[in-house]
Amino acid sequence: MSLVIQFHDALSCPTIVCDWCHQPIEEARQGGYFFPVAPRTEGTMVPITFLHKGSCDSAYSSAHGRLEWWGELGELPTFLARNLHVALPGDVTPWGYGLPQHQGPPHA
Ligand SMILES: [Zn+2]
Repeated sequence: MSLVIQFHDALSCPTIVCDWCHQPIEEARQGGYFFPVAPRTEGTMVPITFLHKGSCDSAYSSAHGRLEWWGELGELPTFLARNLHVALPGDVTPWGYGLPQHQGPPHA
């Protein structure tokens, strides 16, 4: 239940929840996204785990084993927007349209 809708002031707000403490991650700098060790063959999908940095990611890793890769939560919206073909400010190709596909952090 990492991505939920949380209701605030008559709004339905997409919210990321920490997979360890089950509390919302309210500021990007407080959290990270993690994924497990797996073969990196083309098209393979693995789940994302969202955790508060610090005690939550340490406790989660102790209980579930090492998570191979983590990224800053603040970077995730950019990668996700590009993989959904949502134009971001400054996303202009040399031919003036189109976006790069399959954006994400490099393989370890
Ligand atoms: Zn947490």
